[in-house]
Amino acid sequence: MKRYDHRVPLAVLLLATGTAGVPLGGLARAADAAPEAPPVPAAPATPPFGPSNPFFAPSTLPFQAPPFDRIKDEDYLPAIEAGMASELAEMRAIADDPAPPTFANTFVAMESSGRLLARALSTFRAVTGANTDPVLQAADEKLAPELAAHEDAVYLNPKLFARVAAVYHKRRSLHLDPESLRLVEQTYLAFVHAGANLSPDDKVKLSKFNEEESKLSNTFETRLLAAAKDGAYRTNDKDSLAGLGQAQLAAAAEAAKGRDLTGYLIPLQNTTQQPVLASLTARATRETIFQNSWDRAEHGDANDTRDTIARLAQVRAQRAALLGFPNYAAWVLQDQMAKTPEAALKFMSDLVPLATAKALSEQQDLQAAVDAEHAGFALAAWDWEFYAAKVRQQKYDLDEAEIKPYFELGNVLENGVFYAAHELYGITFKERHDIPVYQPDVRVFEVTDVNGKPLALFYCDYFKRDNKNGGAWMDNLVGESKLLGTLPVIYNVANFQKPAAGEPALISFDDVTTMFHEFGHALHGMFADTVYPSLSGAQTPRDFVEFPSQFNEHWAIYPRVFEHYAHHYQTGAPMPAALVAKIKRAMNFGEGYGLTETLAAAELDMQWHTLAASAPLQNPDDFEKQALARVHIDLAAVPPRYRSSYFLHIWGNGYAAGYYAYLWTQMLDDDAFQWFDEHGGLTRANGERFRRMVLSRGNTQDLEKLYITWRGRAPTVAAMMKYRELKPAAGAAPR
Ligand SMILES: [Zn+2]
Repeated sequence: MKRYDHRVPLAVLLLATGTAGVPLGGLARAADAAPEAPPVPAAPATPPFGPSNPFFAPSTLPFQAPPFDRIKDEDYLPAIEAGMASELAEMRAIADDPAPPTFANTFVAMESSGRLLARALSTFRAVTGANTDPVLQAADEKLAPELAAHEDAVYLNPKLFARVAAVYHKRRSLHLDPESLRLVEQTYLAFVHAGANLSPDDKVKLSKFNEEESKLSNTFETRLLAAAKDGAYRTNDKDSLAGLGQAQLAAAAEAAKGRDLTGYLIPLQNTTQQPVLASLTARATRETIFQNSWDRAEHGDANDTRDTIARLAQVRAQRAALLGFPNYAAWVLQDQMAKTPEAALKFMSDLVPLATAKALSEQQDLQAAVDAEHAGFALAAWDWEFYAAKVRQQKYDLDEAEIKPYFELGNVLENGVFYAAHELYGITFKERHDIPVYQPDVRVFEVTDVNGKPLALFYCDYFKRDNKNGGAWMDNLVGESKLLGTLPVIYNVANFQKPAAGEPALISFDDVTTMFHEFGHALHGMFADTVYPSLSGAQTPRDFVEFPSQFNEHWAIYPRVFEHYAHHYQTGAPMPAALVAKIKRAMNFGEGYGLTETLAAAELDMQWHTLAASAPLQNPDDFEKQALARVHIDLAAVPPRYRSSYFLHIWGNGYAAGYYAYLWTQMLDDDAFQWFDEHGGLTRANGERFRRMVLSRGNTQDLEKLYITWRGRAPTVAAMMKYRELKPAAGAAPR
């Protein structure tokens, strides 16, 4: 289920571009891979900010690349703090301008501001995510509240908002070009979204709601952390763990020791299903571990989260009502592609019968495996992964050791990822060894456009390190903007196993897919062709941002691309056809389960967040049962990926009313790939059109309209049905 867990850490929020631009709340990091923060040491003394600081002036390197050879850890904090101060001064000057507000003296001025903050912060985010250390961690800890306060100081400045609103209200008579008009509308929306147009009394109410929400959210996280810890399975009986490999057993013994316990300890993961359930042969152990997971936060003790989430849902509904919306989801979705909760709910209800039919047919296969053993029970949720592993082995017999020699990382990058981009978009790549990097594993490529002009710099940092966050992501070091005269500088980060010195880096097909995925985000950034920095590149809503990346995954297995890169690293021989066929067949295995559990969680999220402010405090268990039954996604053997009481994404991690986006963007990527399929596949003409109409546009246009203009119609789930082999159960028609 890895594909749901990719993240794009654009959580630098609007401040990354140094402008009060579009609200990027929708781009928060996905939480599955978030590591626990190590202890933070005391902050070192901050040197004064001056010309000796490498961020003092724009970089003179090609593409304004950060001068990593001159930047010291101690340089970030003073540069970012000075950057906030100077941006605030710039914003104040705009707000206090005696001239009447115009598009140029308000919006263009805001877009041009905050350059120091932008260059220091984007570089800081890159190194704290991929190459951190105690000095950077201390700076991060100190800066988090300062950056939040800085954002408030911009959005809640009434004089600034008055100017923004004045231009907004006469925007139709200003004869602005479409991108400028979009900038006015998005900026105004961001201010309103933050509560800028409330009366002073209502602003006080809003900040009380915000404060309560933040406290409840913290309480939820604290309780959940403790609940998950207590939910670990502990035993002295090695037999109950039969089926685990030596490494898993050793890890379990180590985990027990870590808590000064004897025997074995299996900690809980965030999701409902637990990885060990795929291996454990003792059904009773599987059931116990599953129940520990399912009930982790519902024991009626100090770690029970149910009261907290019931109130959280209510506070959010009340806050949305204060801001003039029927419910919280309506407030969140106004700047998303789906626009309304109804659109997201309709999409999900189209998908439910298809996903559940597929899950039920998978369940039959698994039940057959149970019956073949004369085990004499009906498959339960805690049996699913165990029998799925067996059936996968029987049906596909995929051996990683057999596959990996065909996927040498450097070859996959240049003959796969870059090759597909060259065939589609005509761009070329040349490695540069003269651009300083923050760590020796990082490689830098200059990307040249089809017309021979420089297009972007691309950094890749693929190997796992202890001081790197988990998962994979993309972000900008420098954002593209015609207003500022900047070209994009982009990086991809992943966590692939680093080979021993002199050995080749052989990766799995999952890793290959991750490379294509992150490079899809990179293309979204590289092709950016916009005037205003806050509308540029991948800075799009959550239910759009994963579309270019997931779309790019399709080329990993596209025959002409695959044949170009999947060669044995020693012999150069192409992968045998039988092995390719196995990989392709295995790709959709478990799709029914994965879709159904994700849909169930997304339904819970959306139903919690479409409660009206007037709704009474809910009983979470009753609410959850009814919510799932109402939309017919209550399969006993396929529980939601997260239960309400431990759904960290929505109660703690900024994905409230946004979990559907994972599935929505899958609809888009399949639907888009189908267009390519129908128009000759991998051709320059198709790539050019996609680049011009989609990838280069950032957030400069209404995204639903942008998509429809390119596709010729609104997206539907038909392509998901085709590529994921989904069909409604016999006798049922899709709703
Ligand atoms: Zn992604």
